Amino acid sequence: MTSHSDQAATGSTATSAKARAAKRRRVPSYPHPPFPEQTQELPGSFAEMEPQPDHGETSWQGTARLEGQVALITGGDSGIGRAVAIAYAREGADVAISYLNENEDAKDTARVIMETGRRCLLLPGDVSDAEHCRTIVARVVEELGHLDILVNNAAHQQSFDAVDEITDAEWERTFAVNIHAMFYLSKAALPHLDGGGCIINTASINSDHPNPSLLAYATTKGAIQNFTAGLAQFLADKSIRVNCVAPGPVWTPLIPGSFSGETVSEFGANYPMKRPAQPVELASAYVMLAEPMSSYVSGATIAVTGGQPMI
Ligand code: NAD
Repeated sequence: MTSHSDQAATGSTATSAKARAAKRRRVPSYPHPPFPEQTQELPGSFAEMEPQPDHGETSWQGTARLEGQVALITGGDSGIGRAVAIAYAREGADVAISYLNENEDAKDTARVIMETGRRCLLLPGDVSDAEHCRTIVARVVEELGHLDILVNNAAHQQSFDAVDEITDAEWERTFAVNIHAMFYLSKAALPHLDGGGCIINTASINSDHPNPSLLAYATTKGAIQNFTAGLAQFLADKSIRVNCVAPGPVWTPLIPGSFSGETVSEFGANYPMKRPAQPVELASAYVMLAEPMSSYVSGATIAVTGGQPMI
């Protein structure tokens, strides 16, 4: 038999369930190819992309998962790095962003970060230079007080139709930016990360499934995954976690910067979701890997590939 008070409770539960259902979040309808044909000179700018990428400017709502932390994100002005920077700031972290020379993109990212009340430090310059890597880590500690999260995300890529089109200089540049910088930055950051900090590296579906037109790039992405797994074992007893995220296709300036207009137009069409990810769709993996609740997650590769198996 149901009492009056039970009925009242059921009634109010039903009302609040309805109210909560009205607020539930659904996946937005993200753009599918074909996109307008477009190319840019690397490193490119998100401001010139059509359609505009979604970095979570209006959608990421923080819940203090990274309260009080300081993060250094390379390639943080645009694309995946910008989305991670916005999410980290909304989760309570101060953020330093390193980038090559895209000052307008970087200033806009800083604007969005500072609107959350968090601090933002802009660090232009070339991470293939070991001295620059040491300098930017030192500046983060000096100006933001400490360093808890290093996101090694900057990369160079270029596509080629034949192996003999890849110059030695192009090969060496790809390795210098994508993997040597990761070593310099990680080594410089380690003394500051001791006892609970973490490193998150951006790998790629190319780590396991190389696109031959990206031979140099894909080779570095395999190295990044291997570096992550090795370094995680080296640092486990210092309570420093090391993980990587392996994105599938993502709508960022790197794409019109390194593929033909025709390829850009169909970008992501051959993946199960028949579209590329928006940068914001990568951010949740980087937040999850950075938060202290992930204390036993180390040496992992998180695939964010829209249903495409990594191997
Ligand atoms: P992006 O163009 O937004 O970011 C690349 C960043 O690298 C830029 O911020 C640029 O300033 C920085 N950079 C390049 N050369 C540099 C240098 N010498 N010194 C300092 N910074 C330098 O593109 P994105 O797609 O967001 O790239 C971020 C990461 O995601 C990269 O590691 C990339 O390999 C990876 N990724 C991207 C895709 C994709 O489809 N876009 C897929 C898999 C992996």
